[in-house]
Amino acid sequence: MANNIYHGVVRTRDQITPNMLRFSLESEALSDFPDGFEGGYVKLVFPRPEAKRPAMRSYTVRSFDRGARQVTLEMVTHGDLGPAGRWAERAKLGDSIVFAGPGPCRSADPSADWFLLAGDMTALPAISVQLENLPPNAVGDAVIEVISDEDRRKIIRPDGIEVHWITNPEPARPNSLLADAVMNLPWRSGRVSAWIASEFANARALRQYMRHDRAVDRDSLYVSCYWKIGDTDEGMKAAKGSDSESW
Ligand SMILES: Cc1cc2nc3c(=O)[nH]c(=O)nc-3n(C[C@H](O)[C@H](O)[C@H](O)COP(=O)(O)OP(=O)(O)OC[C@H]3O[C@@H](n4cnc5c(N)ncnc54)[C@H](O)[C@@H]3O)c2cc1C
Repeated sequence: MANNIYHGVVRTRDQITPNMLRFSLESEALSDFPDGFEGGYVKLVFPRPEAKRPAMRSYTVRSFDRGARQVTLEMVTHGDLGPAGRWAERAKLGDSIVFAGPGPCRSADPSADWFLLAGDMTALPAISVQLENLPPNAVGDAVIEVISDEDRRKIIRPDGIEVHWITNPEPARPNSLLADAVMNLPWRSGRVSAWIASEFANARALRQYMRHDRAVDRDSLYVSCYWKIGDTDEGMKAAKGSDSESW
């Protein structure tokens, strides 16, 4: 991840669906933001007086406007247990926020025969970018878990991509809804490019399914966990590090 530091100001804050807030953050320094990082991420920085280092939380760059020197992020509301969730609920126009980055975007392989994208609401911004950038003749499936039916929204995508919405009003309770939905899809023929990001347990189950049951090779597979039930971001990273299979 690039270590550029941006001192941002909240320019817009919109409740786009019941459980998703969209923020535009402006910073003079964004005039030098590199091209092609939509779908990548920045880390919001939250000072912690009690600790040596600040807490840092990753959020996908949904879009970037160089003229306005603004990045747009979409943040799932999930209460105020963590610094990012707390900030999102309380932030007002004109508030300051420091962020660092950008980190890279792992794109689907455009030469694949078909595409499989799956994720929960935290991955919806990244999946939206991926779908917008697929070749127009792309075919495949996108499985997206949202918190309420009203969180479903129009997504720009090739006609050949079927979107399968799942509603899970309690994403912070252990479940396997996303993994089950993906595993129950008919498997298409040809070479897949799979892109998956979600809560730890579903991401882990899908990583095993793709690698072992479907023999998807590493170059055709991106699986990432974006958060972990009952654990902070730091705890999630520790769990990844001690997992028996590499992420
Ligand atoms: C590369 C990357 C890109 C990401 N992009 C986005 C994005 O665009 N939009 C987005 O909303 N999130 C995104 N995330 C996920 C986000 O970083 C995490 O949800 C993060 O843990 C939130 O930080 P926090 O300070 O609120 O909570 P933490 O301090 O990390 O955790 C506190 C508590 O909140 C719970 N928690 C954390 N996130 C959620 C959640 N989504 N739902 C329910 N409970 C939760 C934890 O289980 C824990 O109990 C991304 C993560 C990564 C790694």
